[in-house]
Amino acid sequence: MNVITRFAPSPTGYLHIGGARTAIFNYLFAKKHSGKYLVRIEDTDKKRSSEKAIKAIHKGLNWLKVNSEYKIIYQSQNFNSHIKVAYELLEKGFAYKCFLNSDELEKLRIKSRENGIPIKSPWRNKKEQGKNQNKEFVIRLKMPSNGTTTIDDIVQGKVTVKNEILDDMVILRSDNTPTYMLSSVVDDNNMKITHIIRGDDHFNNAFRQIQIIKYLDWNIPYYAHIPLIHGTDGTKLSKRHGATSLFDYHNLGYTSEAMFSYLLQLGWSTKNDQDYFMDRATKLFALEKVNKSPAKFDLKKLNHINAKILNNMNVNDVYKLVIDKFKLSLSNEEQKRFKSLLPELVKRVQVYTDLEDEFDWLFQKNFFCKDKNFQSQLQKHNLMLKEIGSRLQKCEWTIESIKNCLNQYILQNSLTFKVIGPILRMALTGKTNSPDLVSIIYELGCTITANRLNYEY
Ligand code: GLU
Repeated sequence: MNVITRFAPSPTGYLHIGGARTAIFNYLFAKKHSGKYLVRIEDTDKKRSSEKAIKAIHKGLNWLKVNSEYKIIYQSQNFNSHIKVAYELLEKGFAYKCFLNSDELEKLRIKSRENGIPIKSPWRNKKEQGKNQNKEFVIRLKMPSNGTTTIDDIVQGKVTVKNEILDDMVILRSDNTPTYMLSSVVDDNNMKITHIIRGDDHFNNAFRQIQIIKYLDWNIPYYAHIPLIHGTDGTKLSKRHGATSLFDYHNLGYTSEAMFSYLLQLGWSTKNDQDYFMDRATKLFALEKVNKSPAKFDLKKLNHINAKILNNMNVNDVYKLVIDKFKLSLSNEEQKRFKSLLPELVKRVQVYTDLEDEFDWLFQKNFFCKDKNFQSQLQKHNLMLKEIGSRLQKCEWTIESIKNCLNQYILQNSLTFKVIGPILRMALTGKTNSPDLVSIIYELGCTITANRLNYEY
């Protein structure tokens, strides 16, 4: 079988992390089976859709590297073929014109809610009357009233519902626009989609949409409805739990690889941590291994993954992320300094945006320690700092000589590194915690180091 999947977002806001995960699953499933992965923008609701949202979807998909390599499909451009199908269903007697006005419909809705029966318009069984010809109408699908419908969902398993619970859904509105329930099925058929992989909030829709497919004798696709993502408290993920927009995580300093890997783990499980990366996942992904129960979004776990990825990343790649994020423009010498210390700095953070606190001291021209508590300690050790500064100025600028120079000072003054280390660090970085002191001195260079050690507190 030539597998064809699709990710079909509605462009009504940002790309939600749940949507992003659906895209990843569709992408991987198609790749695993050497099939096609398509993206269809479901922009049928013109009032709620926007160009901005379409851009946000592409930005998110590109960031995760799961955009389609094929032409993007815009559902609204296929309106005519959807309308044609609505009329075909009408002609074949599988749909009917419903002339209910809004008051009548409201009464029917109330009755339907009270009795727990789905909406079936009285027009279902009426012959169209000539005097209604010029009245507004919608087209409703005539759901089968007896029997059952079974879907053997790859994730949810075999589920059967009684047809009597299915409402006669509207497929064409009174303004002659098709509804999502119709458009989506027609597009899936035209696009020859073999596997519909989407959130399980659409599982109910599947039982209604499949009736159109059956009436028209189209191929029934495989379905895989994946459980939604929940927060750690077990409720559906919402802004209460933190950022829900995929791209917010980019702005917060997460890498695309970490996001990809973590979203994939939310629902799919495999043996090895490495399997959650793109190259391996495209070979291993299996829908059968997708969990039936909702996955919990756990920021701690994402942070852990992100930190690990940052630490394993090539220094030039981390450097690029940081430079782009903080819009740094550095001299050649500063670039070299930054790249040398970056692997050490990265060990201290989980997201690269937090690096700002770690490197703020590195490029300041007239640096002095601003912490009031530290300043009094630096004052106390003024002479010691100056002495070390002047010794360093005379030393050859290699890691080895700097180390020797500090050791000699320690020996001659019967001190220990534990005593001078923290003070030197404060004077040079304004912090109590930083990468290895000798590396810092070496990277800052002789002049900057001496200036910082000579500062009068
Ligand atoms: N456009 C729908 C949504 O964003 C998805 C429909 C589908 O996958 O069939 O929820």
